[in-house]
Order: sequence, then structure tokens, then C-alpha cells
Amino acid sequence: LCNGHTHFESFVKIPTIKFTKLFINGQFVDSVSGKTFETVDPRTEEVIAEIAEATKEDVDIAVKAAREAFDFGPWPRMPGAERAKIMVKWAELVEQNGEEIAALDTIDGGKLFGWCKDVDVPEASKILRYYAGAADKIHGDVFKTSRDLHVYSLMEPIGVVGHIIPWNFPTIMFFAKVAPALAAGCTMVIKPAEQTPLSSLFYAHLSKLAGIPDGVLNVIPGFGSIAGAAISSHMNIDAVSFTGSTETGRKIMQAAALSNLKPVSLELGGKSPVLIFDDADLDKAVDLALFGILHNKGEICVSFSRVFVQEGIYDEFEKKVVEKAKTWVVGDPFDPKVQQGPQTSKAQFDKILSFIEHGKREGATLLTGGKPASNKGYYIEPTIFAHVKEDMLIAQEEIFGPVMALSKFKTIEDAIEKANSSKYGLASGIVTKNLDIANTVTRSIRAGIVWINCFFAFDIDCPFGGYKMSGFGRDYGLEALHKYLQVKSVATPI
Ligand code: NAD
Repeated sequence: LCNGHTHFESFVKIPTIKFTKLFINGQFVDSVSGKTFETVDPRTEEVIAEIAEATKEDVDIAVKAAREAFDFGPWPRMPGAERAKIMVKWAELVEQNGEEIAALDTIDGGKLFGWCKDVDVPEASKILRYYAGAADKIHGDVFKTSRDLHVYSLMEPIGVVGHIIPWNFPTIMFFAKVAPALAAGCTMVIKPAEQTPLSSLFYAHLSKLAGIPDGVLNVIPGFGSIAGAAISSHMNIDAVSFTGSTETGRKIMQAAALSNLKPVSLELGGKSPVLIFDDADLDKAVDLALFGILHNKGEICVSFSRVFVQEGIYDEFEKKVVEKAKTWVVGDPFDPKVQQGPQTSKAQFDKILSFIEHGKREGATLLTGGKPASNKGYYIEPTIFAHVKEDMLIAQEEIFGPVMALSKFKTIEDAIEKANSSKYGLASGIVTKNLDIANTVTRSIRAGIVWINCFFAFDIDCPFGGYKMSGFGRDYGLEALHKYLQVKSVATPI
């Protein structure tokens, strides 16, 4: 897999990789077509590696391997506690290789190395351990019927699962999908995003070392319109779990409906509001709003991309948030002083800049930023627009970059109306010391997550997902485990 070898053992801190293969049925193999695509380092715009590209034929081979592993292999038949042991071993291997993993996500996706190492990697291990803990607690029920029947239910794994993930959190997304499905006893095919395939392939290598049987986990990088479409329309895949844009979610649901009616779970886009009330601690609110939009360079589905500030503190907030944004450190994500690395890809970089141009044209006031932050690499200045009206494109469309849309509100009703005026409903935030305000807004806001005086705060046992066009189904928590299970009722006369 790495430099012509079949594994990543030769890694130093910043890995050197020339090409990769697909991971199917426990082996690293060439793609049928021999096609490859390039993955690019967003810091340098240079090609890191040639990635073997999965096409429809490879998806078929991977699904066949997963189907055989499901129908005849040990994984679904193993006691949950045995699956758990292997998953815990995998978690240990992830921890032991934390630096290499973090370096892969940094060179592939421009993510902050320190954050990946200290937050994403431990989180990945925690996800594996959480679902390992659930693997031996899956059980059905016994029913008392009105007839002379003994009826009970079995909770069975749903079968072969297709996972399709985006590029903004390659590590956490990978394990948030794979771990509950493994705990349930499913087998699977996962397609990482074409922009960030490297860490997923490394996890495949570690899964083999951990003892996950061949065919249970198949990792096939490729393009959405080819490999992704082949997964969502596959007749032999029993469920699809997707995280990505709303536009793609719609296509996946359509493909599932037109093929074998497989259930889909869709974690989609967002345009999340944060409402900052007059009584808020101003400095804390500024920090929260900035972190909410600039963390992971704004490439977070739950970013606080719409910031609404109550009129009593608006002017002071605007002044302070701009001052602070100007001190935000943009640069090489390996540098521990840096707060914001490059956008993941050229396409994303161009898309963000074109939204910024659009914002200027539609009359929003550019307070700071708005330009590339360097001559090389996909760096963009932290950008703040004020006087953003709800019907503007920059207030409605997900930019997925370091671009804040700032505006004012008067009353709590006004704030709720503005927050809800979006097709999305993923996350939301409230900054206030007043419990009545917090409770009223929480109940009125149409979003799957409400953060009161915080951002990006959740834990593995909290279900995570959206309302409205941010999708349906939940990752995290026991809710995620249940999407990989199905109920069989069994009746016998007594
Ligand atoms: P995307 O929809 O373009 O791609 C996501 C994945 O879908 C990739 O693996 C891609 O190859 C695949 N894909 C693309 N077209 C496909 C098709 N026709 N059929 C099947 N698969 C296809 O999204 P993106 O640009 O990679 O990611 C950013 C989006 O993801 C944003 O909208 C963001 O909000 C969303 N996201 C949501 C969550 C969440 O939990 N709700 C988390 C992270 C990202």
C-alpha cells in the first residue's frame, strides 16, 4: 500500500506515500480498471499519492466479499463479547498510531495536526470502545400476546452496509459509521471521500492486525458519481449510511428507492445559527462565535455560520469580533501556533471565494478577510460579513468555509424566526445567562442539536443528526447502533 509495500509500517512523522490500493476481502488489491486518481496536499498544492480508484466492478467485488462474510463468515455469528475484544484491539492500535493518523489527515485534508492527534484520534478510539461495550448487550424482547402464543423478538444485524463519508472529519466519520455497524454484526463497504482517502486505508491495515475477519470491512476509495452511486444503487447492499451534502443525500435516497428500497440514513448539510443575547458575556460570546465558524476552517457541518446578535450589544460585538478575527493565525497546520489550516481542496477553496464575491455583490458589508491568505496552498482569511439579510445567498447556502454572516435581532421572537428561516436544521447555539430565554429558544428552534453557551460539545452517547433538509437518522449513541439492526418476531403456539 505504501511505497509499493502492502502496509504503512514505514511511516515516519510525515508519511511518504506514492500509491495506494483498494482493501477488499482482507487484502490490498489493484482496482479492476487500473485507474487511479491523485490526492493533493492542500498546504502545498502538490500531489501526495496516486490512489487506486474503485469503479462499479470493484464495488461489486467488495460487496460480494462483504455478502459472503455476512452469510457464511464468523463475524455476525460470533458472540458480541468476541466482536468487542477485536474492536478494542483495533482501538488500541489506533491510539498507538495516533501521530501517523494525525499526520495523514493533516497532509490529506489540511486539518490541524495537534487537534487530530489530541482530539480526533482519542475520539476514534472512544467510539470503537463505546460500541464494543454495546456489542454484547444487543437483545430482543418477549411479548405477552392475547392468544396462546409465545412471541419473542430477535435483534439481527441488518446485513451488508454501504457507508459513504465526506472529507472534513476523515477519522471520526470513518469510525462513527463503521463501529456501530461492526458491533451490530454487520459487514460493510466504506467509501471515503476522494479528497481524503489516506487514513481510511491505514485503518483497513490496522483492522487486519486487530483480527477483523476478511470481508467484514472493505475500504474502496473512489468518486461519488461512480463508486458512491454504485453503492447506493447496489441490489446486494442492505442499508446505506451517508454523511455529506444535502444534494448528494437526495441522490442517494433516490438510488436506494429505485434499486432495492434499502433504508438510508442521511447526515447532511447545515447553516447553523447562534443567537447571542444582550446579557451574554461579550468576550466569551466573541470567542464562541469565532471558534464556531473558524474551527476546522469552517469545514464543519455544524459551524455557526449565521451569527445573530441582539441590538443592545451588537455594535460592541461587531467591533470585538473583527479585532479578534484579525489576530486569528492562519498557516501550516503542523505548526502548533496555527489556528486555521488550508481548505481541503482547490474546489472547496474556489467555492468559498466565489461565495465571498457573491456576498459582496448582494450588498452585505465585508468587515474583514475575503481573500486568499497566501500565494500557495488553499488558505483563506477569516471572513466576516455584516448586514446580512435572510434572503441573501450567503445567509441561506452552506459555504463550508471561514465565512461568518453577522446580523442583528431585536426580540426573542425575532431571533427564533431568523434562526428558523433556513432549509437546514442541523445545529444551533444560544448565548445567554437567562435560563428562561435558553429554554424558550431550545423548544422553538428546529434543529437536531442546541448548544447553550458552548459549541461542538457532545459525546459519543449523544445522538447526532439533523432536522429538515439536514437529513434523518442519527450517528453516535445507541440510536446509531439501532440503524444497523433489524427486528425479527418469532411466534410459537403454547
Ligand atoms: P458530498 O456530498 O459532495 O460528498 C460526500 C461523499 O459522498 C463523498 O464520499 C462523495 O464521493 C460521495 N458522493 C458524491 N456524489 C455521490 C453520489 N452521486 N452518490 C453517492 N455518493 C456520492 O459532500 P462533501 O462536499 O464531501 O462534504 C461536505 C458536506 O457534508 C457538507 O454539506 C456538510 O455539511 C456535510 N456534512 C454533514 C455532516 C453531518 O453529520 N450532518 C458531517 C460532515 C459533513
